[in-house]
Amino acid sequence: MAYDVCIIGGGAAGLFCAATAALRGRSVVVLDHAAIPGRKILISGGGRCNFTNRTVGPENFLSQNPHFCRSALARFRPEDFLAEVEARGIAYEERRHGQLFCVQSAKHIVALLLDRCQQAGVELRWGVTVGAVAHQDRFAIATSDGSGTGEIVAERLVVATGGLPVPAIGASDFGLRLARRFGHGVVETAPALAPLLLPPDERLDLSGIAVEAEVSADGPVFRENILFTHGGVSGPSVLQASSYWRAGRPLAVDLLPGRDLAAELAAGRTVNAQLGNHLAGALPRRLVASRLPEALAARPVAKLSPAEIAAATAALQRWELHPVATDGWLKAEVMRGGVDTAELSSKTMESRRVPGLHFIGEVVDVTGWLGGYNFHWAWASGFAAGSAV
Ligand SMILES: Cc1cc2nc3c(=O)[nH]c(=O)nc-3n(C[C@H](O)[C@H](O)[C@H](O)COP(=O)(O)OP(=O)(O)OC[C@H]3O[C@@H](n4cnc5c(N)ncnc54)[C@H](O)[C@@H]3O)c2cc1C
Repeated sequence: MAYDVCIIGGGAAGLFCAATAALRGRSVVVLDHAAIPGRKILISGGGRCNFTNRTVGPENFLSQNPHFCRSALARFRPEDFLAEVEARGIAYEERRHGQLFCVQSAKHIVALLLDRCQQAGVELRWGVTVGAVAHQDRFAIATSDGSGTGEIVAERLVVATGGLPVPAIGASDFGLRLARRFGHGVVETAPALAPLLLPPDERLDLSGIAVEAEVSADGPVFRENILFTHGGVSGPSVLQASSYWRAGRPLAVDLLPGRDLAAELAAGRTVNAQLGNHLAGALPRRLVASRLPEALAARPVAKLSPAEIAAATAALQRWELHPVATDGWLKAEVMRGGVDTAELSSKTMESRRVPGLHFIGEVVDVTGWLGGYNFHWAWASGFAAGSAV
């Protein structure tokens, strides 16, 4: 069976790319080993899919080449995806930091993608195992499914097999292996947007407590909630910082963001309350108790020495944690690293080594922050390739 374009992976990027190419008159087939379409989209954003963000720029992404995503993002803007959402009457809402979510269900985004494909005449094949991929002047892709084995021949091959998180719903390293086989480099992968695990002596008995904090790990400072868990820390600020965290490096936490505790305490010469009680207005009592030695917490604010003020400030505003690991692929939302962008065209996502071969979406070394950026990269890179194949 011969097509202009074969896309392996019918997730966010693959389906968006497929319809974009088919609307240009190309014959397109999508192959996916999953029996059900869009499973990752269905579980995203707590079932409501944070499908893009009001503002999206290269600064919201990690990559060995931070400029690579620029061209695709410039040519497919959040308002472009929003126009698709609005045209179908899907109700959406804006949350903190410009995050755009479905009001009802992520199912509407899956339906949007499938409708676009159907209207454009894309052939969608689910439950297909993709075998060997050969390339001479065209690509020959071995397939098998319930009805037997076959071969698909295509002028162009788009790899949209996603990242490694959540293997139970179809994630695989197929795209990374295929990239290597065709001579592409792969930037080391790691779980990102993932909870961080702490060594036993740093775990606090605060499971379930969440407070706003500034958190960073050798990257930008993220001001959102930190959530204490049985094994370590999570919550949006930690998930964001986890994408920048490297083994052996500390995590910096400020539990009183935007405040200058040292100056406040030094000026508190008339405050007779004990330090622990004074701080309990701003932070949960159990958290304060776990961070300050009992004797310091019992000291009246008015009588604190400069050394005591410095100790309290360090404990609460310059808290250094030493994660031992991320919580792994089962809990990560996205993959850091992936197919090296050095040998891909930033305009078309086409390989510079193998003409006609394209990589899009999460399999590429472009990793978005939490907040709709990863789906936006799927749409933008899918649009870039779909406009070119
Ligand atoms: C729990 C969770 C919540 C998330 N929430 C959000 C959110 O709200 N907002 C956001 O922007 N991002 C979110 N993400 C990240 C986002 O889902 C991904 O970045 C995005 O889906 C990537 O799109 P993709 O098309 O590259 O990969 P995917 O959507 O993962 O699609 C890859 C497809 O390839 C198929 N495939 C894989 N291997 C093979 C193979 N060997 N043969 C055939 N087919 C194969 C898979 O079955 C899948 O259908 C979330 C991720 C998780 C895990």
